[in-house]
Amino acid sequence: MAMAETFFSNLKCRECGALYPKKATHVCEFDFGPLEADYDYAKIRAAISREKIQARPLTMWRYRELLPIDGEPTVGLQTGFTPLVKAERLARALGARELYLKNDAVNYPTLSFKDRVVAVALTRARELGFNIVACASTGNLANSVAANAAAAGLESYVLIPYDLERSKVLNSLVYGAQVIGIEGPYDQVNRLCSEIAGKYGWGFVNVNLRPYYAEGSKTLGFEIIEQLDWRIPAHTVIPMASGSLLTKITKAYQEAVKVGLVNAAPFRIYGAQARGCNPITAAQQAGTDLIRPVPRPDTIAKSLAIGTPADGYYAVHAMRQTGGAAADATDAEIIEAIKLLAETEGIFAETAGGVTLACAKKLIDSGRIPRDERVVICITGNGLKTAEALDGQLTEPARIKPSLREFDALIVKNEPQRHGDAEKIKTV
Ligand SMILES: *Cc1c(COP(=O)(O)O)cnc(C)c1O
Ligand SMILES: [Zn+2]
Repeated sequence: MAMAETFFSNLKCRECGALYPKKATHVCEFDFGPLEADYDYAKIRAAISREKIQARPLTMWRYRELLPIDGEPTVGLQTGFTPLVKAERLARALGARELYLKNDAVNYPTLSFKDRVVAVALTRARELGFNIVACASTGNLANSVAANAAAAGLESYVLIPYDLERSKVLNSLVYGAQVIGIEGPYDQVNRLCSEIAGKYGWGFVNVNLRPYYAEGSKTLGFEIIEQLDWRIPAHTVIPMASGSLLTKITKAYQEAVKVGLVNAAPFRIYGAQARGCNPITAAQQAGTDLIRPVPRPDTIAKSLAIGTPADGYYAVHAMRQTGGAAADATDAEIIEAIKLLAETEGIFAETAGGVTLACAKKLIDSGRIPRDERVVICITGNGLKTAEALDGQLTEPARIKPSLREFDALIVKNEPQRHGDAEKIKTV
């Protein structure tokens, strides 16, 4: 990719449109609105085409013109372009005609969609001259910052609620990151990080580097469009923590039209949360954009447990503007959905994936999502990282002596109709 040219012009306040230089800053000084990357779309339109993109390596960086960096990407060069799976067995189970799973459970290198946002944030952090990077995380972001920082030779600090899943903690420690468990929910971790960012001058990927970080999520949307042969799906179901991913997939669909990669088509955006931490869903369902914080999240979907979602307001608007909706799922429904996905499609998603599928099912059952239109469900994290959510939820393996007699007895006991009796098996 010989593309030192940049199309990324400024940071811009989402509220008042004030322009800011492309530094490590994330709020407007006039109205505290969030800053967002702004581009020269006319120049991008002239510079890219489907053919050009298709000739590039199969990574998220094939959409580089629409990402907020100045030079060549330097972090996460293999990230993205995860499978879009046509899910026929799951579609049958849900009574839907055409269903796809965007499977970021196998994203590189840390098995969640956060590898996308970190690739952009750390590339930009290096451009801005940071040697120490950090984050406030519900788990997956910590894993991705730790891994990508290690590979880039950067020092990293990750701050997490102390009671995360064991595997999420371990998957940060192994890379040599400084891992700090905070005795409090994510909101308190995040508030502390804002204070640290101000005082220590580190590059916090989701605080002072947030405008760059957030744009990485768009690549999930661009890939969905390209993998559907350059079409925007009618319905997309997306998990929500801060609400950023949902907002940015919406932006990706709009930008793809704006730069001429895809024809405009109506699309609806749906958000999914856990019942035990559902501030955005509750607001959407109440018909308001006022997000009421959830001070004590209580759900097995810890990666989505953000009680005061930074982009909740914008997520509600994206759903409203596109004619979408939100849903939430109980812990029991989340586990049910994890099993359904595994048993029908052979995909083991983390609890957030269970949330998204359970909510998609509700939206289909209630008629909010029509059964005969194309649906994409975003699976954003890997089940191996939240395995303890399934403790006691699966049948334990059978245990026998290494003897054929015990095996025969077991098979007959489990499936007497299919196998007849052990005597018959013996004579075959
Ligand atoms: C972080 C995360 C999300 C969504 O995060 P947003 O803050 O809404 O962008 C979804 N799924 C998983 C597994 C995550 O880790
Ligand atoms: Zn402003």
